[in-house]
Amino acid sequence: KTACITGASGFLATQIILLLLDPSRSWKVRACVRSPAKAEAWKTKYPMFSEDQLEFVYVPDMQVDGSFDDAVKGCEIVIHTASPFNFVFKDNEKDMLIPAKQGALTLLRAAKAEPAVKRVIFTSSFAAIVDPHLDPRPGYTYTEADWNPSTWEEAVESTDRHFVYLASKAHAERAVWDFVKDEKPNFAVTSIIPPVILGEAAQPFTSIADINQSSTVLWRIVDAPVMPPTPAYVCVDVKDCALCHVRAVEKDIALVNGKRYLTVGSPFSESKAAKVIADLFPHVASRLPMAAPSLEHYTYSSALTEKDLGIKWRPFEQTVKESFTQLLNAEKNS
Ligand code: NDP
Repeated sequence: KTACITGASGFLATQIILLLLDPSRSWKVRACVRSPAKAEAWKTKYPMFSEDQLEFVYVPDMQVDGSFDDAVKGCEIVIHTASPFNFVFKDNEKDMLIPAKQGALTLLRAAKAEPAVKRVIFTSSFAAIVDPHLDPRPGYTYTEADWNPSTWEEAVESTDRHFVYLASKAHAERAVWDFVKDEKPNFAVTSIIPPVILGEAAQPFTSIADINQSSTVLWRIVDAPVMPPTPAYVCVDVKDCALCHVRAVEKDIALVNGKRYLTVGSPFSESKAAKVIADLFPHVASRLPMAAPSLEHYTYSSALTEKDLGIKWRPFEQTVKESFTQLLNAEKNS
């Protein structure tokens, strides 16, 4: 049994791959990366996996139709995590909106043409759920029933890169469900909807400057003159989020087919994180800004995910501890 995963060099995908390769599951993994250098870095960090267990394939441009055709050959499971996630892009449409949406569609078309594929798991985001026009929306409870209503045109025009990233994920996930409706593929589709993902960065990285976007959310607090603004009031541990993907692979297909699963493990704010950091790492306390005044904001329910996927969330303190230990080491070694 083989699972194909895109974005394999990434923060989330690396944790998913490690779970799939765990001897208790022993999936074979076909890992899609953009370049041989990404594969080499991964294999150097994890030399214990044989080529029979883990095979890398190169997909330099996922917007090119047919680019995933070879990657999904013979795969029962396809997991799509690849999507642009940074806030330094130049062109809203070319760098964010189009790759997020077209990447998903290229993969779905490849999966539809490959009879072995039984399930596709799509990594969406709380970005696809939250309504940025109404933030912080006190008194509202977000669930899988919600959709970010931002239009493509608004996102093209926007000068707010965070807004554009949110829209890229919303339009990509909408494209996935439209594909399911229009093309009626012969496989199950499930979307996993993570909020800010924190925790141990298992992917290869050389320095804090090179780490994935969401791991910098905690590091931005250190030496900041004032508490940085919160990107979202919800977070999840990367290991829990990876496990949600793997449970969507393992659970009864009829249960997970067609479902969106919101995977919030805990409320989040920079001030809350700073308090945990100061408690766990007292020598850093003097480098943390004063807590920001607390603000009324939305809440959430991940009850469906807990019920269907049987997830118990790791404590926030543990997530911060694992991430911050790594970040401090990376600072020391830089
Ligand atoms: P990373 O940046 O660590 O991983 C993103 C992966 O996508 C990398 O493998 C990257 O490849 C690949 N990628 C980025 N842009 C492109 C592109 N244009 N074409 C092909 N591949 C591309 O981020 P995460 O692991 O955190 O994100 C994984 C997924 O989870 C994304 O879909 C993201 O939107 C979603 N998500 C993440 C959250 C978070 O807080 N981390 C929250 C909610 C959702 P390369 O290494 O070559 O750049």
